[in-house]
Amino acid sequence: MRLPFLLLDIDGVLIPFPDDHGNTPTTHARHDVVPTGRNADDPVTVWLNAADGLMLMDVIRSGLVSPVWCTSWRQDATTLIGPLLGLPPLPHVDLPRPQITTSHPNGYLWKRDHVDAWLGDAPAVWIDDDFTSLDHAWAAERTAHGAATLLLQPDPRVALQAEHLVEALEWAGHLAVTPACGSGASHGTEAA
Ligand SMILES: [Mg+2]
Repeated sequence: MRLPFLLLDIDGVLIPFPDDHGNTPTTHARHDVVPTGRNADDPVTVWLNAADGLMLMDVIRSGLVSPVWCTSWRQDATTLIGPLLGLPPLPHVDLPRPQITTSHPNGYLWKRDHVDAWLGDAPAVWIDDDFTSLDHAWAAERTAHGAATLLLQPDPRVALQAEHLVEALEWAGHLAVTPACGSGASHGTEAA
């Protein structure tokens, strides 16, 4: 059986949002990065938890899922964020840059239509902090049609927790022993 994809967001998942006082969790260390297209003298500050890198390496080594970045960082996820966490190069979903003022322009996460097309009928666990009820309905619908789909939604002010990855791997482990849930056409990934 092909591996289910693990779609991984960054903002609100690996980079926590500040709380009402502007503080981020003490587990996360400050880094300054220069995203593609930005001047070197105008870096962006990000906060990352080295422990997340270790946990994600365990996920990669499990061989139960195929991790893919799914973030508005796009290829910078691979070139900037991943290395700060000690991660190897991972593919990414090549999301467009829509002119939107909300992450839910149609009531659901703006990434979803692109992810839906990218996945085809592949099974996937998707970790993002920004799903709406319509996204959860979409996941249930995909699952009902044979493309097992699990959405995990960290609190963006706390960000990724070990329990999210444990749940992802348990879900993938169950899929591995019930392959009918995840069968379908093969699917290529876009290397970053
Ligand atoms: Mg996010």
